[in-house]
Amino acid sequence: MRVRPLRCGVLTAPGEAFVAGMAGQVDLAVWAFLVEHPSGTVLFDTGMHPSIRDDAHGYLGGLAGLFTIDYGPDDDIGSRLARAEVAPDDVSIVVGSHLHFDHAGGNALIPNARLLLQRREWEHARTEEDGGGYVAADLDTGHDLHLVDGEHDVFGDGRVVCVPTFGHTPGHQSLLVRLDDGDLLLTADACYLRRSLEARALPAFGWDLDLQRDVLQRFADHESRGTTLVFGHDPVLSPAALALMHP
Ligand SMILES: [Zn+2]
Repeated sequence: MRVRPLRCGVLTAPGEAFVAGMAGQVDLAVWAFLVEHPSGTVLFDTGMHPSIRDDAHGYLGGLAGLFTIDYGPDDDIGSRLARAEVAPDDVSIVVGSHLHFDHAGGNALIPNARLLLQRREWEHARTEEDGGGYVAADLDTGHDLHLVDGEHDVFGDGRVVCVPTFGHTPGHQSLLVRLDDGDLLLTADACYLRRSLEARALPAFGWDLDLQRDVLQRFADHESRGTTLVFGHDPVLSPAALALMHP
């Protein structure tokens, strides 16, 4: 089994909005992770829709104004998979951390995978009236859905496990991957950066800040037990994470 990180562009935004107390701008790398298990290939998140490259305002509406978007011609998930020599149809399951545009926008490029989400994320995103990070077109992909409630062991052997980390959104989940050499916990937006964890610095927005705080403590506990954390938008993966992955 192996995990490969796929870097799918960078969003730059005012630091204070995403990490309390952070002056200046913050670079938020957009990541997807390919998890190759003997029973199937999983993609954890899919980055942004390719339309954003040419017409961010057209695709995202007002959301586009919050970010400077660096999204090169090879940064979409289709190009990243091609470079990894993986065809879209080789991906059997897309696990979505949540359905915000920078995590679910590439789902449309993997049309034949099953989409595995927390049920409450799917239901919330469908009813969100003000957008709030969601783009209707990203939800309207016609995927075969696998909606789960709470912790979910993807292959039944404990090696790829969806871990509920509600707070950023009502149905946010992280992914625990148990490799031969150690455990990786892909936090996604439950923790943007290492700095977010160390300073317990939450974003200025979010569905439930108290739950987000509890989740950060759970991550710290995981780390103290030897789990390697991979933060959702850190521009640089840690040496410990890279040692367990196959970049
Ligand atoms: Zn995000």
